[in-house]
Amino acid sequence: MNKVILNTSEVQELVFANKYKVVEGTKFISRCIDGRYQADHNLPALAIAGADAGEMAVIFATANIYGFEVDNEKVFETLCKVVGGIKNLRFHTDEHAEAEVLMGGCGHIKNISQTPDDFKVTPAQVAFIKKKAKEAVGKGAVQEVLKGDHMEGAVLVITGPYGIFPQYVLKTSDGNITTQVFEFHKGLVDARHKVLVKELVKNKAVKLYEGCDEDYLYQVLSSTTEDHLMEIGGRLAKGLTIYSVAFEENGEFTLEESDKIQ
Ligand SMILES: [Zn+2]
Repeated sequence: MNKVILNTSEVQELVFANKYKVVEGTKFISRCIDGRYQADHNLPALAIAGADAGEMAVIFATANIYGFEVDNEKVFETLCKVVGGIKNLRFHTDEHAEAEVLMGGCGHIKNISQTPDDFKVTPAQVAFIKKKAKEAVGKGAVQEVLKGDHMEGAVLVITGPYGIFPQYVLKTSDGNITTQVFEFHKGLVDARHKVLVKELVKNKAVKLYEGCDEDYLYQVLSSTTEDHLMEIGGRLAKGLTIYSVAFEENGEFTLEESDKIQ
């Protein structure tokens, strides 16, 4: 099936129909930017490339780029704590990948594994992430199996207290067409990072240089998150338009069209 490139009014329609309120108690549970998640009342709103495996990659890459030390095990423990326990960690694969290959159907993790240099992580760090993800899944963390093909036709960058189901059936003159969007929930990712940096410092998971504090860590983590998003965007979402979706408390939102992904 051919994917549909969504225009502004179609994105508007999708967001209006698919928005859902973020649940405060579970707001730090994540999912991937992948557009194939089904509408489900338990779907985490916090969309970040590679879900929690991608988050670990961001932390390790930040340490590599800015030259500070990390304690891998403590990074993992801290992330578990921030999401509310190991069972709340999220990873995913898809039905096309071999079942025994962990995260084999997650485009982001696949790309990081194949070209770690481009994401500023080492093969050893990638191996560590996979090892911990496997252990976590054995202890109740969720690896979701996404179904169907990729049909993402836009990229949404979201802020505010709502999530968006990424799949939507568009009614056109040619009949009903299933569409999808990639999503990055910047608002929730930033909120999680604010808590995460505090805990990383407190748990001594990172050893920052003299004079560098939590705020510094937050800034550099945010910067790497964006780098990773752009790196994977250039591979999986090339040519798609980025739309910013800003939600108000009451669910109203403004939609702004920005650049296309290069
Ligand atoms: Zn993924």
